[in-house]
Amino acid sequence: MMQSNANLNIGWNFNNSYARLPQLFYTKIKPEPVPSPNLVVLNQSLAESLGLNPDALKLEEGIDILAGNRIPDGSAPIAQAYAGHQFGYFTMLGDGRAVMLGEHVTPSGDRFDIQFKGSGKTPYSRGGDGRAVLGPMLREYIISEAMHDIGIPTSRSLAVVTTGESIMRETSRTGAILTRVATSHLRVGTFEYVSKWGTDGDLCILADYAIQRHFPHIENNENKYIALLKEVIKRQASLIAKWQLVGFIHGVMNTDNMTISGETIDYGPCAFMDIYSPETVFSSIDTYGRYAYGNQPYIAAWNLSRFAETLLPLIHENQDEAVSMAQNEVTGFSDIFKENWLTGMRNKLGINNEEPEDEVLIESLLSLMEKYKADFTNTFRILTLNLDSKEVMLNNDEFKSWHKKWLERLERNQASEINCHQLMKRNNPAIIPRNHRVEEALKMAEEQGNYYTMDKLLEVLENPYAYSQEQKEYTTLPEPTNQPYVTFCGT
Ligand code: AMP
Ligand code: MG
Repeated sequence: MMQSNANLNIGWNFNNSYARLPQLFYTKIKPEPVPSPNLVVLNQSLAESLGLNPDALKLEEGIDILAGNRIPDGSAPIAQAYAGHQFGYFTMLGDGRAVMLGEHVTPSGDRFDIQFKGSGKTPYSRGGDGRAVLGPMLREYIISEAMHDIGIPTSRSLAVVTTGESIMRETSRTGAILTRVATSHLRVGTFEYVSKWGTDGDLCILADYAIQRHFPHIENNENKYIALLKEVIKRQASLIAKWQLVGFIHGVMNTDNMTISGETIDYGPCAFMDIYSPETVFSSIDTYGRYAYGNQPYIAAWNLSRFAETLLPLIHENQDEAVSMAQNEVTGFSDIFKENWLTGMRNKLGINNEEPEDEVLIESLLSLMEKYKADFTNTFRILTLNLDSKEVMLNNDEFKSWHKKWLERLERNQASEINCHQLMKRNNPAIIPRNHRVEEALKMAEEQGNYYTMDKLLEVLENPYAYSQEQKEYTTLPEPTNQPYVTFCGT
């Protein structure tokens, strides 16, 4: 039964600014109660950093909240409206199976959206059942937390509960709800929605809200809307560079899955690449490779053009002038991305000063990795540790000649050898959530209700740069198979 006004000692401190925006932007709706909630994973350290009491969240009342069966004081649940370009085509979307409980303000004053994924139907559900199943919710939990620990801006995962319901997909699956935490859920798609169905006044309210929430330092800029575009471009360029530097493939970079905050969001068919190839695609629905690893920076720029278009009426009263100003910013994305990427690659190779030829050195390593089908993460781990390895590439003359050039380049560094080695260690995660290890953990959890493998994986992923002995087993590749690894949209 739905209960409200729970007066629990969890530490919630809701202040729901989004729910004070125009009605057009959202629908008030409560999560649908579930029959039999059971907590399967709680993020103790995240709870603590939010000022929440993890012990209270583990009690029956706490679990009832994480299942949507009990609404805490101060929460004003809503489903957000948004649109988006999916695989290039404009569509009306919105939270079809998500409900935002509200914005929790931490003791240090930081504001976070607390959102359920899989908590029932909303007016934006279209044909869907509003529900989610256990495997994909645990997958989002594992990968988002791994991303955070690698040092990549992302939404976080506070908890997963099973609901006691069976959910029909291709087979009957265990129902689950993920509690997601993000600095906001403002998306490029939120702007597309308001730009299409709202007035210029609504758009102005949304843009001002985004500025206030994420970029308060530009509030007094002469043209704060072009400054907003600039900031989002900067954040996204930095984010996508970080993805590229660890071989992360989002899988479904639709504009509704691109945040204004610059956090990674919506872990559906995402995966980390093992063997380096720019063409790598895992998603079952990405038939043409639109969202392939090597395409991610181009797609980000394309998405940012859609964002820029929504801002045109705010940027300048003269349309032509607005277009030219916006275009100028979007064109700048590739340079900003490149700068971030080059700095990151230099760091990965332990290079601490800049030389114009560095890019050639980096590109030639990547070409060799592609040619000899080298594992992305392990190549940098091996270079960092100066390991002997049986990897085909490493025993090849072409690589040996590259290696010699690299060592010569390191001699021109402006820092000690130890410092450069530390630089590599800080920039090359020794482990990533490898697909076969994630799948193994999910299988145990879903099929046997056994969380041991997942908990161990989560623990080891907490310190990706530890270079510890216990991580070694997580660096091994899957057994070779003829079947490519395929991921599915989080269902
Ligand atoms: P996503 O792939 O998670 O970005 O979702 C794309 C759109 O489909 C969003 O509007 C979701 O809310 C909606 N959606 C996905 N799965 C469901 C579901 N089971 N029921 C209702 N809506 C869904
Ligand atoms: Mg989405």
